Amino acid sequence: MSANDVIIEKNYYNGQWVPGSGARLAVINPATEQPVGHFHEASAEQVDAAICAANAAFPAWSALSGSARANYMRKMTAAIRDHLDDLVQLQMANCGKPRSEAVADILGSVECIDYFADQADALDTQRQTPIEYDIPGYRSSTRLEPMGPVGFILPWNFPMKICSWKLGPALAAGCTVVIKPSEVTPFTDTFWGKAAELAGLPAGVLNVVNGTGAITGAALSEHPGLRKVSFTGSTRTGKSIMKAAAEDVKNIGLELGGKSPILVFEDADLDLAARLAVEGVFYNAGQCCNATGRLLIQESIKGPLTEKLVEQYNAVVLGTPDTPDMTMGPLASKAQYDKVTGFQDIAREERLHCVIGGGRAAAFNTGFFVEPTLYDDVPRSSRLWQEEIFGPIMCIRTFVSEDEAIIEANDTEYGLAASIVTEDDERAERVAAQLEAGHIYNNVSVAIPPQTSWGGFKQSGIGRELGPWGLAGFLEVKTVTSRD
Ligand code: NAD
Repeated sequence: MSANDVIIEKNYYNGQWVPGSGARLAVINPATEQPVGHFHEASAEQVDAAICAANAAFPAWSALSGSARANYMRKMTAAIRDHLDDLVQLQMANCGKPRSEAVADILGSVECIDYFADQADALDTQRQTPIEYDIPGYRSSTRLEPMGPVGFILPWNFPMKICSWKLGPALAAGCTVVIKPSEVTPFTDTFWGKAAELAGLPAGVLNVVNGTGAITGAALSEHPGLRKVSFTGSTRTGKSIMKAAAEDVKNIGLELGGKSPILVFEDADLDLAARLAVEGVFYNAGQCCNATGRLLIQESIKGPLTEKLVEQYNAVVLGTPDTPDMTMGPLASKAQYDKVTGFQDIAREERLHCVIGGGRAAAFNTGFFVEPTLYDDVPRSSRLWQEEIFGPIMCIRTFVSEDEAIIEANDTEYGLAASIVTEDDERAERVAAQLEAGHIYNNVSVAIPPQTSWGGFKQSGIGRELGPWGLAGFLEVKTVTSRD
């Protein structure tokens, strides 16, 4: 088998593989600029058919015990493990990721679905809970019920993995699903349909429709047959999905953009600080919603820390995913390359002090490669300090006091994640309590285990994924009050 064998060019709904009836679109390998494959976009009518299938499958799927659903979910993860090498190859070819990162994506998806399979087992004993109160003649209990058929609209930066954060809790809760992968990276997410087929999931429980945001995505987010749309992507698209959901008061989950700060205090271990800062902005070539693109350094340690950062920058090996020892690949698409190099152009116009990098990667004639870039003394008003770049670019500002660091860190419309580097545990706790972000990292890498919560404050989103909060996002709470 090869990566080509897991390139599925069709949509999967009602248990059938169906070619899209819309335009033929190319999917590009960002390292070679050659097509990885093609697919035909699903039309609004096909999205409707997929949502009808999810509605038809809902009564039987939601009536199963949690452990019966968990069995199906574990069979799906077994199917993914069986195709691990092919999926990793495809993830590398379509996203330009290093092998280690592609493996982490696919195995992270498996880990997440398995975690929520355990939650599905546990739901069998948690569905009905008595409520304690003292009103003579009354007694109440709550029931947890699946929300209904739900839709997912996905980004391109972590195909499969981000879908698993939605799919795991939705299937565990008893919801049926319609998945719309990103048109930039459709194939590994389409494999969810194959995993469902191989696991013997009843027809209509898991459906996949492929296409652009303007046609397939809009048809899904506007459809009245879904009870919830769970979206991960840009804040701009999130706002239009929120407006579409308002039409029929659909539930929404929004995982949006970020501009995450990393605060390094003068008592920090500087080697650790340099490593965490660059890991946070180099992983997936900086195309992470939690990328640590805003580095806030306490003034007294700026010189030595900047030296260590430059050492880390110099150690980066840019390359195609099949290059031995490469540590960073190209950006995932031409559009993203244009956006990131556009920020480098803005930096030149704004006359920012570029410490290292600052341009396209000259060694590559083809592929969407950019130089890892570090800017110093970036003014607060700079677009590079304010806007999400989604590439390997880090900007430095300094602070004098802890209070000033917190004000600077919170001075953004986003609030997804923030990192603190300090050897003082009391300071870490104090600062974590004041940072406006959904996940705070203290002296560690920006990992996201499925047991923790993920989601943003402010314009980084609405709701929480992962952990028990992720499961709650696909359950309705119903209270039954009766005469005692
Ligand atoms: P995007 O908003 O361009 O696209 C995301 C998805 O929305 C795609 O599937 C696209 O086809 C679809 N879409 C676009 N317009 C639509 C519309 N009008 N109606 C319905 N669907 C539409 O985002 P992207 O470029 O794929 O992803 C990058 C963004 O995602 C970044 O801002 C990043 O921060 C964010 N992100 C957030 C998280 C998180 O957990 N908060 C995780 C990953 C990525």
